Amino acid sequence: MKNPKCPVCQKESCVHKVSLLYMIGISEQKDLTPENLELFNRIYSIKDSEGNSRRPARAEMREAIKRFAPPSGKDRVIRPVNPDLAVLAMLIFGIIFLVNIYTQQAAYFPYALGILLVFLLGYAVLRRRIIGKFQNELQSTTNERKVVEKAVDRWMKLYYCETDEIVFDPNRNRSIPLMFMQEYILTGQVSNLQE
Ligand SMILES: [Zn+2]
Repeated sequence: MKNPKCPVCQKESCVHKVSLLYMIGISEQKDLTPENLELFNRIYSIKDSEGNSRRPARAEMREAIKRFAPPSGKDRVIRPVNPDLAVLAMLIFGIIFLVNIYTQQAAYFPYALGILLVFLLGYAVLRRRIIGKFQNELQSTTNERKVVEKAVDRWMKLYYCETDEIVFDPNRNRSIPLMFMQEYILTGQVSNLQE
C-alpha cells in the first residue's frame, strides 16, 4: 500500500502509518521484517548531542511508544449489572436456602422467610432509585465507549512524517504536531493550534 504525501514536505518516503509505528514499537525486534526493523531503528533510536544514535532504554522506549499509542478508555471493563437480575439471582439462592431450612431446621423457617421478605420489601421501595442509578451508569459507560471507538477510528487513519514529526489524516490534509496527537484523536481537533 502506498503512503500518502506529507502535507508539509510533500514527500511520501518519510511517511508511515501511525498504527504500524505503534505495532513495530510493541513487537519483539526479532519478529520484525528487515524493512520494519530498519524503520524501528530510525523511529525509535535516541540521538545524543553529537548526533550518534543509540538504542533506547526500557523507560525511554515506553515513552517513545506512547507517542504513537491508540487511545485507551478508562480501565473499566465491568459493565454495570442490572439490579433486577442481581436481586433475582439472590432470590433464587434465598428460596433454595429457605427450602433447606424448612426441611432441616423448621423452627427457624419463619425468621428466614421474614428476612427475605424484608429484603424484598426494601428493594421494592428503593427500586426506582436503584434502577435510575444503574441506567445513568449504563449511559455513561456507553458514551465513554463511543468516544473511545471514535478515537480509535481517527487513530487508524493517521500517518506520521518522520521528517516533520507531524501526524495527518490524508482526507483532511492538515498537519498536527505529534505531541498533540492524543488530543486530536480524542476530540477531533487541536484547541491551541492555528488553522
Ligand atoms: Zn513531511
